[in-house]
Amino acid sequence: MEEKKVAKMVDVLLAGGKMLPVHCAKCGGPLFEREGKVECAVCGEKAKPEAKAEPLRRVEEVLHAKLNSLAEQLAKETDYTKTLELLNNIKSTLEALEKLKVR
Ligand SMILES: [Zn+2]
Repeated sequence: MEEKKVAKMVDVLLAGGKMLPVHCAKCGGPLFEREGKVECAVCGEKAKPEAKAEPLRRVEEVLHAKLNSLAEQLAKETDYTKTLELLNNIKSTLEALEKLKVR
């Protein structure tokens, strides 16, 4: 990668920008989120944050809903095997949520 491009990205990062796992449609550079706006650090192309983050946000919503429903079931469950099953489901859901945060 060209030094100039790297310097621009560093500038954005230092200004509090967050690098996103999304690439610019125009130049292929990484997109950065800063003050609620998503912008390409290389060519300045702007993207709508809602549009870019939507799929992951939806997954997160579903996982949270799932977690709530599992907790409800767990509260009512008296069977040992089913309780273990529910706990395993909760664990997997939490792991999936954790992975979303890392991205
Ligand atoms: Zn770009």
